[in-house]
Amino acid sequence: MARLLIIGAGGVAGVAVRKCAACPELFEHITLASRTKSKCDAFAADLDRPIETAQIDADDVPKTVELIRRVRPDLVVHLALPYQDLHIMDACLETGVDYLDTANYEPPDVARFEYKWQWAYHDRFAERGIMALLGSGFDPGVTNVFCAYAQKHLFDEIHAIDIVDCNGGDHGHPFATNFNPEINIREVTAKGRYWEDGAWRETEPMAESRSFVFPQIGERRMYLMYHEELESLIRHVPGLKRIRFWMTFGDEYLTHLRVLQNVGMTRIDEIEFEGRAIVPLKLLKALLPDPASLAENYTGKTCIGCVIEGVRDGAPQRVFIHNICDHAACYRQVKAQAVSFTTGVPAMIGAAMMTGGHWRGDGVFHVEQFDPDPFLDLLARHGLPWSITPWDDPV
Ligand code: NDP
Repeated sequence: MARLLIIGAGGVAGVAVRKCAACPELFEHITLASRTKSKCDAFAADLDRPIETAQIDADDVPKTVELIRRVRPDLVVHLALPYQDLHIMDACLETGVDYLDTANYEPPDVARFEYKWQWAYHDRFAERGIMALLGSGFDPGVTNVFCAYAQKHLFDEIHAIDIVDCNGGDHGHPFATNFNPEINIREVTAKGRYWEDGAWRETEPMAESRSFVFPQIGERRMYLMYHEELESLIRHVPGLKRIRFWMTFGDEYLTHLRVLQNVGMTRIDEIEFEGRAIVPLKLLKALLPDPASLAENYTGKTCIGCVIEGVRDGAPQRVFIHNICDHAACYRQVKAQAVSFTTGVPAMIGAAMMTGGHWRGDGVFHVEQFDPDPFLDLLARHGLPWSITPWDDPV
């Protein structure tokens, strides 16, 4: 039985804390800490069992060290924002405590996410005898585990992976993002990037698209984007020749985004406004609906998975491994929408893998480096069933 310190109190943390609290046999003590303590207290008040709450600015390393020393967790589950990754890893190094997150580090002033900053901690984590598990959400996270499962059980060699992410739901707003608006808009306005024949290839943002028929949702247009799991999977899937990431967007979303970009509202540099410096994207975030608030009236489903091609016993084969998640069902279960749910549940399961000793190592690791079976078994039992379908059409 483990002690957890969960940092962050947004949509994803709300799901993770509910799920962890519902498993006292795995997590005996939980502390939820975030910048705004009242959000932690609101989650705590809605649980069936008491948890501790605390205020923390996780960019303040000495304060975070102090909190970790007081709480004495076995694991810090970081569900705040990617900007805090390195600060929380520094605090874990100083206190000798394991670390888990769902999104890789990005510097606040450059919209570029890469694993190099977190990989640079590997030797220090290994020397300290502690473990960091990076990207234990859905994508990255479950999609990486699907690839590990395919490698272990379905293929002799994997040649191509297309990760496809569809939110076929409707939240009723003309424009809103399903997770933190600032991080989401930085991601979707970046250049597309994929890996083929040993080299990265770049496309203009949203320049390449395909039509794809998602089970239980139907045909949707999806756009090639860069996503962080591509960077770790090319290291860990031997024989891979190509990997791409696709996400669906509706015309309404894309039109709003184009207008916001054209008028400068997605800029991440400071501008002067009436005598004070502001970052337009941060102002836009303050104006957009809080992703957690979308949950109550959300209808429809998400479908996220991997189309994987390769060979088995000398014969070519292609499969689609995926999960389908219903927004309204998530709300009934944990008062969250499916995007928060599909991230918060794998964060809880990653925590169970680490604290239960199923996944262990000294240093910095990705989920695809461990046995996928115990993770996928728990995933299905905690509300994210998954299936494997033979897939005829190439992406
Ligand atoms: P939210 O914006 O809803 O929540 C973020 C939380 O972090 C807020 O409670 C916020 O506090 C808190 N926070 C921000 N800065 C600090 C700080 N310096 N110190 C302490 N707490 C801080 O985001 P989501 O819940 O939607 O997303 C959480 C994470 O999950 C993000 O990193 C996101 O990229 C990742 N994610 C990963 C996915 C995956 O599949 N791998 C999918 C979706 C999201 P405050 O309330 O004060 O603002």
